[in-house]
Amino acid sequence: MEDQTKRAGFISIVGAPNVGKSTLINRLVGTKVSIVSPKVQTTRTRVLGIRMEGATQVIFVDNPGIFAPRRRLDRAMVAATWSGAEDADEILLLIDCTRGIDGDTRSILVRLREAGRKAYLALNKIDLVKKPRLLELSQDLNEFGLFDETFMISAETGDGVDELIGVLASRLPVGEWLFPEDQLSDMPSRLLAAEITREKLYLQLRQELPYAATVETDVWTNQDDGSVRIEQTLYVERPTQKAIVLGKRGKQIKALGAAARQELEEIFEKRIHLFLFVKVRGKWGDDPERYRDWGLDFNA
Ligand code: GDP
Ligand code: MG
Repeated sequence: MEDQTKRAGFISIVGAPNVGKSTLINRLVGTKVSIVSPKVQTTRTRVLGIRMEGATQVIFVDNPGIFAPRRRLDRAMVAATWSGAEDADEILLLIDCTRGIDGDTRSILVRLREAGRKAYLALNKIDLVKKPRLLELSQDLNEFGLFDETFMISAETGDGVDELIGVLASRLPVGEWLFPEDQLSDMPSRLLAAEITREKLYLQLRQELPYAATVETDVWTNQDDGSVRIEQTLYVERPTQKAIVLGKRGKQIKALGAAARQELEEIFEKRIHLFLFVKVRGKWGDDPERYRDWGLDFNA
């Protein structure tokens, strides 16, 4: 007989770029599974974050933001987001309440309505706005008639997050857990390690860094002394970009490596030896191979 106390299910977190989806998932999971940055478009693939809430296994799907796609890569990301959202048990729409209902958000609302899906609404970044503005925004959004419930949260401070997860967990279907109880993510260590380095790249280079930079883990070796040797290649599109990533006398890449290594050691709780290489690889945005690696559809 099925165990009536256990529940499990998927919650897809959707929203415009930069509203705080990755920050929220990391907070819910309690460790970093998705990279966060002040720059838009840092989440390229869907990330599953997993949390046990009592006897309920809550599986979050983090998404690249939903926005009007221009390039092939953008189209693939948006398509992946929607197919993920439509398969999920629950949809949580996250709004940046400092931005209100902008074009990106409006197009998500339209799409939800077309799909005939109900969703939960969370107004994020409440640490940045005043109460009256918040209530006004909540009212405006609820006029769309799409939301079962509205939450006001700060993914950054954690305000309101426990209440949100409590409600979402209680609505998931009764059923067996889908992952081992102690698993936090379905992201392979190699991919997560590459994402961490990519995040440092964004954080340290900001404006100078090409949107097209990517990182791959080539070697992951668990060594006898308990440490891990990781070799990664940072791919850029042009020699000038390579020079920026390396920096004068390799200063920049050293700083990158130091920051990435520190975080990798915290996440994997192991000593890490990290080796970074930079290569020029033109136009990877049109390479079907990369899309497969990320689980994206090249022809979206
Ligand atoms: P995503 O693109 O939706 O995944 O957004 P991220 O999680 O990468 O966050 C985008 C930016 O918003 C980052 O700089 C976060 O630190 C910031 N952020 C996220 N949540 C909050 C919040 O509740 N309050 C504040 N003040 N900043 C937040
Ligand atoms: Mg993100």
